[in-house]
Amino acid sequence: RDLVGTAPAVEEKALEAALRPKALDDFVGQATVRTQLSLVLQSSRIRQTAADHVLLSGPPGLGKTTLAMIIAAEMQAALRITSGPAIQHAGDLAAILSSLTDGEVLFIDEIHRMSRPAEEMLYIAMEDFRVDIIVGKGAGATSIPLELAPFTLVGATTRAGLLPGPLRDRFGFTGHLEYYSPEELQKVLRRSAGMLEMQVTAGGFVEISSRSRGTPRIANRLLRRVRDWALVHEVNEVDRAAASAALDTYEVDSLGLDRLDRAVLEALCTKFRGGPVGLSTLAILVGEETETVETVAEPYLVREGLLARTPRGRIATDAAWEHLGLTAPPQRDE
Ligand code: ADP
Repeated sequence: RDLVGTAPAVEEKALEAALRPKALDDFVGQATVRTQLSLVLQSSRIRQTAADHVLLSGPPGLGKTTLAMIIAAEMQAALRITSGPAIQHAGDLAAILSSLTDGEVLFIDEIHRMSRPAEEMLYIAMEDFRVDIIVGKGAGATSIPLELAPFTLVGATTRAGLLPGPLRDRFGFTGHLEYYSPEELQKVLRRSAGMLEMQVTAGGFVEISSRSRGTPRIANRLLRRVRDWALVHEVNEVDRAAASAALDTYEVDSLGLDRLDRAVLEALCTKFRGGPVGLSTLAILVGEETETVETVAEPYLVREGLLARTPRGRIATDAAWEHLGLTAPPQRDE
């Protein structure tokens, strides 16, 4: 096969890029966001202006970067990609903004991690397509306004609530991405398997989708691991049993929980007898930032019915104890 022999990291990256849908119509699921976004884009095409600024929120791997690329493609515009952590000084942002061409799409991933001064510069740029450059220091400092070409900002964040109100308000449209249903993930997998020239039965797709944590990025990654397994075991057609055996080899959780998800549940059950416990305490125990636990692990655990939020803190449900193979203590404080 032509891919054999290329460096693995390069191959993985190339595959991830190749598997990205290029048009809105190829983007699976997220029907609400897709319909709304399609209207925004069509309207701006009719008006022949840069599209309104778009904010996309949702956990990692659900398609925010892919949508930004699709927006640029549908607008036939160039795309610039950067991230909040990369923009620490307002000057970094000024340099990017002033180099944008007419109609260009600027994608800022993790936009909630931008520094305060950069954020304030962005407000004005989004609204008036202008930045104020400060020249000189102290009493002699003056601000020189610099006109920008009209551009479309696409911001991505794990939760819209992490953005300060004034920044959030300047987006014309906010789309919230949800976890994908198993059926939607099977559609993603079917398309990817076709591109990878893999033979997978319906049962095989069901098995992989059920372990993909509602996330297309994970689904595609598991599919590639199943492909490795099938290649080595000389299995031409991957059925449910083969997919299951392959994923067991990689110790993929039957519910698709990842290391952080499991760490949170384990800490909750083994250190706090199932809770209730505050989010920040849990975060410290698993060695993660509170924000990561709240926006990355918790939404999936809640959706799967493994963790519940109560006014007094987070608690592990019976299903969580069962999934971890632990016995719940007799008198739990609920
Ligand atoms: P995010 O930016 O939200 O972390 P990405 O846009 O990078 O997520 O998506 C991760 C991977 O999942 C991409 O390689 C893409 O191929 C795949 N993907 C995401 N959403 C979809 C979708 N709706 N349909 C098909 N593939 C998708």
